[in-house]
Amino acid sequence: MAVIKNIQEKYMKEALKQARKAYALGEVPIGCVIVHQGKIIGRGYNRRNTDKNTLSHAEITAIRKASKAIGDWRLEECTLYVTLEPCQMCAGAIVQARIPETVIGCMNPKAGCAGSILNVLEMPEFNHQVAVTRGILEQECSEMLKTFFAELRIRNKAEKEARASLRNDGQLLFGGQTLQNMVHSGIFPVNRDHTL
Ligand SMILES: [Zn+2]
Repeated sequence: MAVIKNIQEKYMKEALKQARKAYALGEVPIGCVIVHQGKIIGRGYNRRNTDKNTLSHAEITAIRKASKAIGDWRLEECTLYVTLEPCQMCAGAIVQARIPETVIGCMNPKAGCAGSILNVLEMPEFNHQVAVTRGILEQECSEMLKTFFAELRIRNKAEKEARASLRNDGQLLFGGQTLQNMVHSGIFPVNRDHTL
């Protein structure tokens, strides 16, 4: 059991490496790797905004690359590792690709479809079920997302404040006064050769 966990953590670390690539692009940091007979045959990370494409989720990219490596749409004998619980599209693709096993870092209560909102991976009604392991390197996976969203909130707030300091007519305010007013009142002396 400990051996299996070590292997799972080893590949989840590789998925985290992919997630960091998304982070560096300002994308929600989600990464994925697909392993076949001890070898990584597909890697992917979220590039949705960069590519302006709904299909640019980490898992879809990794599945595409793994299929190319194997030369088959069926990814039998493969294990998919992903840092965040897959969405409905990716969970569907995992079932469609006949991937027998999926290992998940942290869960996504608001959008996950591997047990949170739906459990597409383990529906007995489908012709294929996926064995799922959850919570591998859960803390690292969720910390990366939390840090990303905390930084995003700070960035959005700073941008909002910068916008608010612009008046409706587009003039910048300095301590509540326009630059023009400050020049007229002598607060901001200006060389008349360089009129505003
Ligand atoms: Zn997805």
